[in-house]
Amino acid sequence: MKMNKIPTVNQLIKKLDRAFSLFIRLRDSDENGSCTCITCGKTAFWKEMQCGHYIGRRHMQTRYEELNTAAQCPWCNGFMEGRHFIFRQRLAERHGEEAVKRIEALAQIPGGLNRELLNYLILTYQAKVKKLKKEKGL
Ligand SMILES: [Zn+2]
Repeated sequence: MKMNKIPTVNQLIKKLDRAFSLFIRLRDSDENGSCTCITCGKTAFWKEMQCGHYIGRRHMQTRYEELNTAAQCPWCNGFMEGRHFIFRQRLAERHGEEAVKRIEALAQIPGGLNRELLNYLILTYQAKVKKLKKEKGL
């Protein structure tokens, strides 16, 4: 018989990363599943895009902040180190300067995410992904 093992915090983070990334790319895609890279403007199918972060993922307080993230092409996300400066500019255009400042302040708050919050966010984003896939027919 298989033992029911409680997932570690790192395993929960991995699971949440996956659900959150799917959500951001679906959020930023049109009805055909086409996404535009926030930093270079290149378009591609949502599955070929990545979830780019303005403030890096090591900052746990903003890792799952929707306003801190956007669909980004693998080139900009991986090889151009996220194109930090342009990323910030585009976010300010989309959400306003105040929202960007709020994210920047939030990132400075120490502390991580506990198991309860991670579990809650996993369920939340899995449901959001399901809803968006249905709405957009993707
Ligand atoms: Zn790009």
